[in-house]
Amino acid sequence: MANLNDKVVVCGAGGFIGGHLVSDLLAKGHKNIRAVDIKPFGEWYQRFPEAENLQLDLQEKPACYKSLKDAKNVYNLAADMGGMGFIENNRCLCMLSVLINTHLCMAAKDCGVDRYFYASSACVYNADKQRDPNVTALIEEDAYPGQPEDGYGWEKLFSERMCRHFREDYGLKTRVARYHNVYGPNGTYDGGREKAPAAISRKVIEAKLTGKHNIEIWGDGHQTRSFMYITDCLKGTQNLLAGDIIEPINLGSSELVSINQLVDIVEDIAGIKLKRSYNLKAPKGVNGRNSDNTLIKKLMGWEPDTKLRAGMEKTYRWIHDQMTSKRKSA
Ligand code: NAD
Repeated sequence: MANLNDKVVVCGAGGFIGGHLVSDLLAKGHKNIRAVDIKPFGEWYQRFPEAENLQLDLQEKPACYKSLKDAKNVYNLAADMGGMGFIENNRCLCMLSVLINTHLCMAAKDCGVDRYFYASSACVYNADKQRDPNVTALIEEDAYPGQPEDGYGWEKLFSERMCRHFREDYGLKTRVARYHNVYGPNGTYDGGREKAPAAISRKVIEAKLTGKHNIEIWGDGHQTRSFMYITDCLKGTQNLLAGDIIEPINLGSSELVSINQLVDIVEDIAGIKLKRSYNLKAPKGVNGRNSDNTLIKKLMGWEPDTKLRAGMEKTYRWIHDQMTSKRKSA
């Protein structure tokens, strides 16, 4: 049972998942939350006056020691990341996030942190297992032999390993989730870092608002993915930190859809049909990827279960509100 007075540090709290996590921890009664992000406060998706908010660059070692002072539990959600458009074109920036996890692990050991969560990704999985859109869902062992997504995936795989060795050598209770595509309100939907659910919502809303009923889809639309709604991500993440699962574990939905099917869902929510064009030169990632949830069901007795349609309704509405209020104030 969590002591609500323990200091909990959320790194990357100005981001999509971090902002939701701070919100959820406050709602659960946590009284001692430190929220850290490199972004200026005005750019955080969510910021709460009840938390201690710090703007720090966690690639810097002293910033990590300052952030983790007196901390009991730490969530490391800080990374330079985005959708395929970002990670395929910014491999170096993605790999430099290795400094964040490395310095945070060192600080966690020296500051006497009890439990440390690291947000890994399905991008650690071996590319050879993801060539067919009719995927066999990925099990945890499929991360080895290592052939992850270039740049971003290598950083995640290395940082998973770093967490493992801090646990084995120093007794830091590290916990690692491999997130599969998380989506929901209060995240990025334009500017180049957005992922498919937000990008497709934005494009459908733009088509609706401008009356130009076309949509460009990256790839041939047959590539398949699963998408996890933010509330499932928060539940799995907190259960993982509190529990005894020491090996990296899938945290994702097993509801597999093609990108074309995702567009169908968003069109249906918007009440519109668009003419589709396919940009085969755009970054599209692997052909197929799904989360095998056998292990999480066995160990947690649960798996992410929010239906894509229900989560996309909420995501679409939020992006729609943002876009229409921006248009009004322009
Ligand atoms: P996000 O980009 O919205 O949030 C990441 C936050 O980290 C940003 O606010 C960013 O400013 C901050 N950050 C980056 N560099 C920093 C630094 N040097 N110091 C301090 N803060 C820094 O991304 P998110 O979707 O909330 O993802 C959170 C974590 O989950 C990341 O580690 C990401 O790689 C991982 N993940 C996310 C997904 C997903 O679908 N969203 C999937 C797999 C893994």
